[in-house]
Amino acid sequence: MYAFPRYSPLATSYCLILLLATLSCSKQEAPLYQEQILALGALVDISLWGVKPEAARQAADAITADFNRIHTTWHAWKPSELTRINAQLVTGHAFSVNPEMIPLLVRAHALSQASDHLFNPAIGQLLARWGFQGDEPKGPPPDPAVISALISQHPTLDDVVIEGDHLRSTNRAVQLDVGAIGQGYAVDVAIAHLRKLGVENAMVNASGDIRVIGRHGNRPWRIGIRDPRGSGILASIELQGDESIVTSGTYERYFDYAGKRYHHIIDPRTGYPAQGTLSVTVLASDTATADAASTALVVAGTKDWHRIARAMGIKQAMLIDDHGTVHIDPVLAKRIRFETTPAPKIELSPPL
Ligand code: AMP
Ligand code: MG
Repeated sequence: MYAFPRYSPLATSYCLILLLATLSCSKQEAPLYQEQILALGALVDISLWGVKPEAARQAADAITADFNRIHTTWHAWKPSELTRINAQLVTGHAFSVNPEMIPLLVRAHALSQASDHLFNPAIGQLLARWGFQGDEPKGPPPDPAVISALISQHPTLDDVVIEGDHLRSTNRAVQLDVGAIGQGYAVDVAIAHLRKLGVENAMVNASGDIRVIGRHGNRPWRIGIRDPRGSGILASIELQGDESIVTSGTYERYFDYAGKRYHHIIDPRTGYPAQGTLSVTVLASDTATADAASTALVVAGTKDWHRIARAMGIKQAMLIDDHGTVHIDPVLAKRIRFETTPAPKIELSPPL
């Protein structure tokens, strides 16, 4: 999922409508400041509305520094605070960690428990074996015996004891990977920083993990949700105030091996890529929650997504199964606009 690229036809037509209505698309006012940075291994789009250019540049620099700091702290396979933590966890002894890790781990633990550990940031070993802790996953898939040995040890964040800024693990199979929540968490950190700097209208989009505050001038922020079966836009939605939207898709990272596709969202119960789902979009008031939940609901699949969403406190969600059918709750269904022709088949769920 992404915000409309600046020159997408859809964005342009919205802009034209706005131009006719208010002339506010003209360059002279330049109320929209946009910057794109590379951080967390992904493109991060920063959009600020109504901030003077110099202040906007400073704000963008400040949150770029946040993203870079987080990137180097939480990296799962390049030497980082996280790789140091993982090396210590196997000892079973307590050790001190960078205090910035603690709130992330506390949040991740609560969300993992609520998801029945379908969102499970303690399965780093499994993810490494699949090659998803690497720049270019390419297979082969791990030996089935290795997978069953790893899942039989049931690593979860329940095994990690947090005492002040010290951690220890009661299960030596625990290896942390915050790939399913870290980007969302970083977006929350960035938005909090922008607010501190007095920015009231902004959108931060870390390759599909999006949080908006305020408005895009005299209209809400508009977001496009990617079609998981193509490269176009499946649907659009308007956000304003303070809302997050995150999409997890099986198309984001994968490898093909011996004629089969293996994607990066692993079902911790089986040790294999989750089956039956192409993507899940979740709306929530903060991005970390939406991020963890979108991953959990991909694993939960058509049978359990509704139950797990409720358990995680999610009120708006949409799952696209591998037939392209959209499973959606009634609140989100009312807000979203499908952009494809024909519109996809929709299965309305009971309210969340
Ligand atoms: P996302 O794009 O937010 O869905 O996160 C996917 C990333 O999270 C993967 O690339 C893995 O690093 C990690 N991951 C995969 N499966 C899980 C899972 N079941 N629970 C937690 N993290 C996972
Ligand atoms: Mg996620």
